Amino acid sequence: MPGFQFSGLQDEVLVQGPKVLVTGATGLLGRAVCREFQRNGWMVTGTGYRRARPRFLRCDLTDEDAVRRLLQEYKPDVIVHCAAERRPDVMERHADAAVSLNVHATSTVSKEAAVCGALLIYISTDYVFDGRNPPYGEDDCPNPLNMYGRSKLEGERETLRHCPDVVILRVPVLFGEAESVMESAVTSLWLKVQEATEESCPLDHCLQRFPTDTRDVATVCRKLAERARQDPSIRGIFHFSGKEQMTKYEMAAAIAQAFNLPSNHLIPLTEQPAGSAPRPINSQLNCSRLELLNLSVDPRAFSTAIADCLWPFTADKRWRQTVFH
Ligand code: NAP
Repeated sequence: MPGFQFSGLQDEVLVQGPKVLVTGATGLLGRAVCREFQRNGWMVTGTGYRRARPRFLRCDLTDEDAVRRLLQEYKPDVIVHCAAERRPDVMERHADAAVSLNVHATSTVSKEAAVCGALLIYISTDYVFDGRNPPYGEDDCPNPLNMYGRSKLEGERETLRHCPDVVILRVPVLFGEAESVMESAVTSLWLKVQEATEESCPLDHCLQRFPTDTRDVATVCRKLAERARQDPSIRGIFHFSGKEQMTKYEMAAAIAQAFNLPSNHLIPLTEQPAGSAPRPINSQLNCSRLELLNLSVDPRAFSTAIADCLWPFTADKRWRQTVFH
């Protein structure tokens, strides 16, 4: 069938639980979401695009017919829509393709979710806020500073327009088990930490961030899906975030400390670099709605969670044994 192909993942799933379709399953968050639902008895189908085969379905979400066929064929109970262009600087350079994925594909997924009666969970971002007046509650007025934030906000609006029962989950900068350290702005700091023998390495010490583990986000998604299927009041926008406030400089210093590596080459920079897309200075999310509904999780401590993600990239794979045992 043109547009998407089934692959081996379905054959692996023997459990007869409710069905979830995860878009962006080849990505940083989507992988964690697939694993979390699978471990909890759901029948999981993931879709990807360039990296889809052999594990996932390949479906170009910008192809409306392919999305329609996919959902009609699979008839999920829940869709977790993770696929997006999430790199603000790439977004500014390739605006048309990125808007096509972040806005138009989201619109198509929402329309088809409504047709097939699936609960839609849309992953959004703290970049919908301008960062001037944190912390931000779900009802606070968005004012994105860059094209990425605008496209994700437009995506939110498309989901609400076509699928009023949507659950929108806004999260801040993510890190998790990575195929390459460059998959996340957080794990990519590993390369800076390792430049210890080189010259000094300037790192942003201006923008306040709340790095968040994809495993925690995935658990929140599953809890939301399970509760929202039972309780129609669990709808609308939710915020989830790690609790530790850090600049990139502080994240890199914490990484160096976790691995007993030198950090004196890391230099705090208090001005945003010229030429990159503008970013909010502090878009801290108030997460009390999830917490009051007992749908949150206690975020893992940054130093241990980031060590979990980075140890496969250490030159000496015995590091884990020497540090943890
Ligand atoms: P990611 O690692 O960059 O993954 C993007 C996913 O989108 C991949 O699975 C990719 O598939 C898929 N994709 C790209 N083009 C596609 C197309 N035309 N059709 C179908 N799928 C396509 O992203 P992520 O970091 O997991 O982000 C997940 C969600 O979290 C996004 O909605 C993002 O906005 C949100 N978010 C992320 C962060 C963060 O720091 N990463 C922060 C806040 C919010 P292939 O790779 O197979 O092509």
